[in-house]
Amino acid sequence: MSDQGAIPDATEALPVVRTGESVAELAFQMPLIDHHCHGVQTGTATDAEVELLATESDWPAPPGTSVFDNPFGITVRSLCAPLLDLPRHCTAEEYLQRRGELGGTEVSTRLLASSGTERYLLDTGFRASTITTPHEMATLTGSATDEIVRLERLAESIAPGCTAAGFASAFDDALEAAAANAVGVKSIIAYRYGLDFDPARPEPAQVTAAAGRWLTRIEAGSPGRLADPVLLRHLLWRAVELRKPIQLHVGYGDPDIVLHRCDPSHLTRFAHATRTTGAQLMLLHCYPYIRQAGILAQLFPHVWLDTSCAVSHTGPSSETLVRESLEIAPMHKLLYASDAFGLPELYACGSWLWRRAVGLVLDEWLADNLIGAADARRYVKMLGRDNAVRAYGLE
Ligand SMILES: [Zn+2]
Repeated sequence: MSDQGAIPDATEALPVVRTGESVAELAFQMPLIDHHCHGVQTGTATDAEVELLATESDWPAPPGTSVFDNPFGITVRSLCAPLLDLPRHCTAEEYLQRRGELGGTEVSTRLLASSGTERYLLDTGFRASTITTPHEMATLTGSATDEIVRLERLAESIAPGCTAAGFASAFDDALEAAAANAVGVKSIIAYRYGLDFDPARPEPAQVTAAAGRWLTRIEAGSPGRLADPVLLRHLLWRAVELRKPIQLHVGYGDPDIVLHRCDPSHLTRFAHATRTTGAQLMLLHCYPYIRQAGILAQLFPHVWLDTSCAVSHTGPSSETLVRESLEIAPMHKLLYASDAFGLPELYACGSWLWRRAVGLVLDEWLADNLIGAADARRYVKMLGRDNAVRAYGLE
């Protein structure tokens, strides 16, 4: 304690004025651009399929328990039940029964409409045969739908029939063709290897040698799953040259991950290496490394982040991580995404929870006069759609 006497009243230096304005309403009304999501399951999902799609685990809930008691399941029974004509907080059994009665298309139509999404950017590289294509998604929702090309899936699709020496140019041709109709690409190097990869671009001879080893294994009958770090880095560097936004899986979001190797701080040297290339690195999910991702988004002009699937899966607690995402990242580097796959409930809950959290946090800043009403309104729109428009060149 200083000997200068009492600490001055902080309100004299920084008057706190309760403004009475609110942006929560705007947060709930504005159309969103969902920059990272997948399609919804086609047909009507069985109860067991719903339970598995409601978690990022690839194991069913233990006998006698249900994912409807997970934070996401609790949220579904609160938010989605009324949309299916059920009382709020209905039981899991009641929810699943009603879901089955209405059928997949009706459930998807109602729940997707509730998300208020004006545009979907669909990653088509995972279990594409079981979910809606971008065209089907656009038909179902009446909203514009664009495609994101998954690099590893593309490489796996062209591998059969390639020679080691011909792999690199075959991939270039395939990427050029696929990207012509896509707004961005996605890398899953996080869970095929780890984000602690060598950030340098691999030499052509290294790529040929690695392709030779991979193709030999495929010819011997092993699955074509691409996990070679040299080839994964090659794909990533080809994407850098493509100059379309590169989505990177980060942190939580897949049962395959070794979580600590998906910490985005491992990407620091790759971010340095690509800073002047024109590439844009879109860090997806980021949980629980949201602060690390936020720091990279502040330090590097080409790093962005979202909180996507973590919002749905933390349900009632999701405000905490949206608040973390707003701690240090510039307002122009944050994006909305649901990362929904298969279940329309993930779109409905992801958007509602994110709108709630952003409204709560910005209204708090507004009430304390730390931001003005015009900025608060501008920020809500930037976070929900305008940043995505700028990042992906959508208009
Ligand atoms: Zn995803």
